[in-house]
Amino acid sequence: MNKPSEALIALSQKIGQRAPLWVQGNGGNISEKNASDLCIKASGVRLEHMEYPGNFAIVATSHQEALDNLLSKKKELNENVEACYFKWIQDASMKGENLGRASMETGFHLLLTKKFVLHFHSVASLLLSHELKKNMNILHEANTEGLNICLMNLLSPGLELTQALKEEKEHDAYLLDSHGVILQGEDDQILEQWNRLETRFLERQYPGLLVFYHKSENEVLRHLGRLKSPMRFYFPDTAVYYAELIEYIIPTGDGEFEITEPEKKILEYAVTKNWKKLNLLEIWAATVAINKYCPEFPEIPEALAASIANLPSEVFRKTRGN
Ligand SMILES: [Zn+2]
Repeated sequence: MNKPSEALIALSQKIGQRAPLWVQGNGGNISEKNASDLCIKASGVRLEHMEYPGNFAIVATSHQEALDNLLSKKKELNENVEACYFKWIQDASMKGENLGRASMETGFHLLLTKKFVLHFHSVASLLLSHELKKNMNILHEANTEGLNICLMNLLSPGLELTQALKEEKEHDAYLLDSHGVILQGEDDQILEQWNRLETRFLERQYPGLLVFYHKSENEVLRHLGRLKSPMRFYFPDTAVYYAELIEYIIPTGDGEFEITEPEKKILEYAVTKNWKKLNLLEIWAATVAINKYCPEFPEIPEALAASIANLPSEVFRKTRGN
């Protein structure tokens, strides 16, 4: 494998085009593997741009051995372990003119056993994880597809998540508390199955939010992106991009914040390829959506937010981007 297949590009575009409700900015990652290679989105790249030269990475599956070694030495490496994981990604990314550097989540993409692995930051998946703490029946009602679903606790992205998934490799879907969802399947049907599950959940629990799933990204940003909301850390990317985000929103005096840019300017960002601004706008719109429909949604603990923002793989991701 030396480039993404048409099926992989189609999947990454489908997910990317549902920003900011499925993914915000350059978050999320997607891969396809065969016996010898993994083709994965490059770090810092928007999902819908994966087909461009430099926006995907190739990792030989033989690098799994070094990853297993790293995971087994995690305790003794202590605070150096994240730097070692960062170096593993660097070493594992095949070098070549059109190749980027593999996503920070390459670890679990390699470990999971099925052909396609899709990870994205679905707002509905966050709400579903949250509701399941109160009532597990919601999952049985929504999951008429019969997907084999694993519920995961709140974990740091990257190595910690990879370590946890090493013990749980065979599920179809993983609900990551306050983070998003991971799907794996032998074909592209897994995304459609997830979409139907998520839709059934929203129909019952959050019909107001489901309305936005039928709108274009511009329409969602025009509505949600310009609403006021308290500043909340609901998912890891808020911690990663907080310094930039807090420069972009202004307090309105009642404990809330808003973006003051006119609608026209906001809608221009994709056209003028101002991806940095679009990234912040999408993070803000997802934050607004969660706060508007589920004001009691818990924030990620401050210490975890700080440690996520300082992960070497996250610091690197911020230097890339389109
Ligand atoms: Zn993620």
